Amino acid sequence: MLNYFMPVHFFLGRDVLKRNGELMLTLGKKPLLVTGKNSAKKCGALDDVISVLNLSGMHYTHFDEVKENPDLETVVKGAKLLQQTECDFIIAIGGGSPLDAGKAISALAKNDLLPYELYESAKIKDAYKIVAVPTTAGTGSELTPYSVITNTEINQKAGFGSSLLYPALSYIDAKYTLTLSKEITRDTSIDALSHLLEGLYSDVRHSFFYPLIFQGIKLIYQFLPLCLEELDNLEYRVKLMHASMLGGYIISQCGTTLQHSLGYPLTTELGLSHGLANGVVMKIVMEKFYPSVSTELDSMFKYLKIGKNDFYSWLDMLGIKFEHDLDDLFIKSKSYEVLNSRNMAKNPCKIELEEIQSLYKNLSKS
Ligand code: NAP
Ligand code: FE
Repeated sequence: MLNYFMPVHFFLGRDVLKRNGELMLTLGKKPLLVTGKNSAKKCGALDDVISVLNLSGMHYTHFDEVKENPDLETVVKGAKLLQQTECDFIIAIGGGSPLDAGKAISALAKNDLLPYELYESAKIKDAYKIVAVPTTAGTGSELTPYSVITNTEINQKAGFGSSLLYPALSYIDAKYTLTLSKEITRDTSIDALSHLLEGLYSDVRHSFFYPLIFQGIKLIYQFLPLCLEELDNLEYRVKLMHASMLGGYIISQCGTTLQHSLGYPLTTELGLSHGLANGVVMKIVMEKFYPSVSTELDSMFKYLKIGKNDFYSWLDMLGIKFEHDLDDLFIKSKSYEVLNSRNMAKNPCKIELEEIQSLYKNLSKS
């Protein structure tokens, strides 16, 4: 069975904000702009949004304190600012971190909730409208109903989701990704690749999506190495943005799995970027799931005209490798956290605590 819902109105292409920006003005009277410290400005997206607002004389408040892997404290601060300055919709500009923070701020400011209650998604009963302007090609958050926020009190990264948190509008223009560094380009593309693969792993996977998944994976397989050699090539950037959108679209319907659950502690404890954390567990997760989804994976490799080992060599060629040792304390405490994370509900087979521990042990050895 397929249960399909995708309410995002998006514009994709060159200068879409300039050409269609007036539509976001219909969502409210005063937006809260949610960004990180530098990149929204550096890549031109913030200026594009502000010029649309200025043209219509619409006032706004700017919250620029979102850091990578945003935490609950930041969300609380943003929600208070929204209320104090009487904003009534959100324009989130940036990578997944500002986009997710914008969604969480929207939910917290609109509902009478304690911050950690956001993780109980069913308690989100209302939300301010969200506009998303992605500046990385990775998370696909501009098309998903999810927000991933770190609870620093317990140093745990976890997601929540609500159909109310789908952006009402997304403006997707690959030109904003031209300023990404080589490392962030690679890591964010690997996050998109994870999302696409997880569309094949998910227990609600559906052949309806496979052509799009295969296409997205092929775009990354072909164009990521080229883009890493020529970071300012807009054509390659467009291809990677398409792949990222396909990844976001796929997880919006199929969810994520063990792969994301295993990666989160590598970010919170060791500081790996989100994409790299997914990348270093990609092989071990593929090996684990292969017996359950061999038909799907074999079709994908056939489409790419490569074998599984070629795919693993490609990951090695990109320099995706794990260079840490995981001690017993990490393995014990974090395996338990992984087992209880919400993404685990979507695995294609049952995964026991001991299997998670042994995956982490093998990762240390690889
Ligand atoms: P990010 O954390 O948003 O940004 C990473 C870095 O890239 C930051 O230093 C940022 O700078 C910089 N940056 C962003 N855009 C740039 C540009 N155009 N040019 C130059 N630098 C730029 O990275 P991300 O990988 O996109 O997002 C990761 C987060 O999204 C994680 O928390 C992850 O868990 C979450 N995620 C969410 C979903 C979902 O469905 N909601 C899915 C997967 C992952 P500034 O700090 O100055 O902005
Ligand atoms: Fe992700």
